[in-house]
Amino acid sequence: MNFEAHLAPYAARSATSPGRSHAEAAPDSRTEFQRDRDRIIHSTAFRRLEYKTQVFVNHEGDLFRTRLTHSIEVAQIARSIARNLMLNEDLVEAISLAHDLGHTPFGHAGQDALNACMKNYGGFEHNMQSLRVVDKLEEHYGNFDGLNLMFETREGILKHCSALHAAELGTIGRRFLTHQQPSLEAQLANLADEIAYNNHDIDDGLRSGLLTPKQMEEVDLFARHWHEVERLYPGISGRRAIHETIRRMINALIMDLIQTSAARIADAGIQTLDDVRHRGPLIAFSDSMFAEATILKRFLRENLYRHYRVNRMTSKAQRIVTALFDTFMQEPTLLAPDHRVTKPDPDPQRQAVKHARKVADYIAGMTDRYAMREHRRLFQVDEI
Ligand code: MG
Repeated sequence: MNFEAHLAPYAARSATSPGRSHAEAAPDSRTEFQRDRDRIIHSTAFRRLEYKTQVFVNHEGDLFRTRLTHSIEVAQIARSIARNLMLNEDLVEAISLAHDLGHTPFGHAGQDALNACMKNYGGFEHNMQSLRVVDKLEEHYGNFDGLNLMFETREGILKHCSALHAAELGTIGRRFLTHQQPSLEAQLANLADEIAYNNHDIDDGLRSGLLTPKQMEEVDLFARHWHEVERLYPGISGRRAIHETIRRMINALIMDLIQTSAARIADAGIQTLDDVRHRGPLIAFSDSMFAEATILKRFLRENLYRHYRVNRMTSKAQRIVTALFDTFMQEPTLLAPDHRVTKPDPDPQRQAVKHARKVADYIAGMTDRYAMREHRRLFQVDEI
């Protein structure tokens, strides 16, 4: 059965894909990209997303988004849009569910701290780490490391990458050097991520009380829908008003993205995936929606992500990550054997780089609560 027969000619397809690094027999009950999605869901890193911060640390409240619920929301949005554009839903779902697998504990604070720690050892980028998780770190299969995912899934996971790292990555990094675009599915997953976090961060920000609807009214995209909801449901208030507003915002962003992208694909005369790779980005918001979304992002940066209560957690998170890293760098014997370099390098500098990467892998894999516990185990004498 051809599950991909209905797709647009420029969609990614199992049959024409460069495939997997390790050859495997084709699956008989699903597409190659469904198989990727299934492997991601069964991975260890995926389960850890439940206990990793998006903006609010996991223990701050049960209703805030975690990386897991965020990833599921991204997949939902991406699939809706993909179906409208006749793109490969299975591929966008796989990319969406995997896009944050490499995130450290404590969100961006953790990633910035780990990147600073790794400055002299090759740095740390969460997109590259997500790829590293699916290519190398997962231990699920007898004859290869990682999940052995399809090229297009891996390409979508590697959303950004510095030129230096791109050169080291070989085929998968090449597009960053030749300035080509990834598949439409990868472009789409990237923007679905933005739609998801902008909207759920408003919801979580309002829920936490760090933001108020009054304050949000200075953002046109919010105010327009908020006022429409007040007009449609006189006297509406509280969570119901917020949810009615946010669902309208998500819908407006999705509809704009579908219409703008469909027009751009048609205008550019795109026929094949190869055409996609040689054009500029085709999945995009209209200029006016892009401008509004940019204002919203700036608002969230200034008022939520840099709120003093978020800053306090950010600061603690950076101290925890830095302390863990420094301690493990100075005293490798505190690490369980699994997290140590198995074949020490005779060259001290190369050995330090190898060791640092093992430490970074260990820390990046930690959930928020595991990192806090590990910190207590190392620094509090009565914690074992
Ligand atoms: Mg994300």
